[in-house]
Amino acid sequence: MRRAVYPGSYDPVTNGHLDIIERAAGQFDEVVVAVLINKSKKSLFTVEERLETLREVVTAWPNVRVDSWHGLLVDYCRTHEIQAIVKGLRAVSDFDYELQMAQMNQRLSGVETLFMAANPVYSFLASSLVKEIATYGGDVSALVPAAVEHRIVARMAELNSA
Ligand code: ADP
Repeated sequence: MRRAVYPGSYDPVTNGHLDIIERAAGQFDEVVVAVLINKSKKSLFTVEERLETLREVVTAWPNVRVDSWHGLLVDYCRTHEIQAIVKGLRAVSDFDYELQMAQMNQRLSGVETLFMAANPVYSFLASSLVKEIATYGGDVSALVPAAVEHRIVARMAELNSA
């Protein structure tokens, strides 16, 4: 069984993430999309909301599951018998940090990191940008799945009426 984890914040999941999920699902027997919990990062959606959205959008791929983890990614890999970490690379700006993480994770555990080149159609896309656009009432329908669009519009309305 070849298992991979695709870790991230997914606050929220975007079409760029989905592209990597689909391609990773074609390469591994099982892919776990893992929401890594980082309490020091301010998020728009709670971990439960992010998991619920992810579960909704990955139903198209029977070998993709969703989970969350609070701790070192390599410990998640060890506990769940996962051999590879999948990461998407959008631009050189992603590279320095991702290379350092990949080398550290390899050193800590032997788990390999496999980089997938972002689809150029989505290489400008980041969750943070989606949130910024939505904050100012911009249209994010081409950037995120419909399940996310509905939730982001609702969340912005809540925040604006608070
Ligand atoms: P973001 O960087 O957008 O806040 P995450 O922290 O959730 O997103 O990223 C999780 C993983 O997805 C990382 O490997 C990141 O490089 C990758 N990723 C994010 N956006 C894209 C995209 N548009 N295309 C390909 N990979 C992406």
